[in-house]
Amino acid sequence: MYNKRRTSTKFLLVIVVFALLSTSAYAFVSADKTSAKQMLAERTPIPSTELYRQNPPSEPFGSHERTLCSVDVVAATEVIQPADISWYKQLFNQYNRVESCFSPPVLQTLQGSHVSVDARIYEPLNQMMASARAAGATIWAQSGYRPYSTQRTLFENRVNRYIGRGYSREQAEQNTARWIAAPGTSEHQSGLAIDFNCITMAFEHTAAFQWLVENAHRYGFILRYPPGTTHITGVNYEPWHFRYVGVEHASRMQEYGVTLEEYVKWYFGR
Ligand SMILES: [Zn+2]
Repeated sequence: MYNKRRTSTKFLLVIVVFALLSTSAYAFVSADKTSAKQMLAERTPIPSTELYRQNPPSEPFGSHERTLCSVDVVAATEVIQPADISWYKQLFNQYNRVESCFSPPVLQTLQGSHVSVDARIYEPLNQMMASARAAGATIWAQSGYRPYSTQRTLFENRVNRYIGRGYSREQAEQNTARWIAAPGTSEHQSGLAIDFNCITMAFEHTAAFQWLVENAHRYGFILRYPPGTTHITGVNYEPWHFRYVGVEHASRMQEYGVTLEEYVKWYFGR
């Protein structure tokens, strides 16, 4: 009898401690969520022409500069290669595809990780991760460069799952493209995009996400697919996916609260 009472008291104590821990964890998470969400909600429409005139970028940012492989030389005459667009100032999306053989000139693997990125963003990425760590927000790279073949496998697997559920090939591809970029349209092929920590919506409620939303632009990175912009980017909200665009452009996009598509349109449509 005595033992039984002691056991139930212990059990009750465990429940109380667990409840207290859950409440404080929730409070921490809620505070993060509100703040990061508020920042992301403060989007403005595409900046005005007047604003552009007052504050023009020092360097142009443009649509994708196709990098041709030897096998594609036949098509070279159809390809526009603006001379003023360099490696990190390229748009990769469903309208700006890259060839299957396109890859960063030099890849560098992150220390203690299997993830590699374009070697030119290795330093800013490491600096950003170190600063986040110093601020108590641990971020790690879950995924970086992905070759065309890997992207094709990921895409096809999801398409086949939809087809298995009775969708037509076309519908299956459309549904898949909102979650997984079709081969040739993924920023991961450029080596300039990183998926951080856990690739789930739960990432949105972490201190790491909060820190990234507030600070990533200082290192040249942007949250590439912000909430409420699927009609512009063609991709669902992905809190874990960040893209290197350089400090100047990232800071401007942060200031104006615009996506890369809007920023490029603004640049060319002024
Ligand atoms: Zn990604």
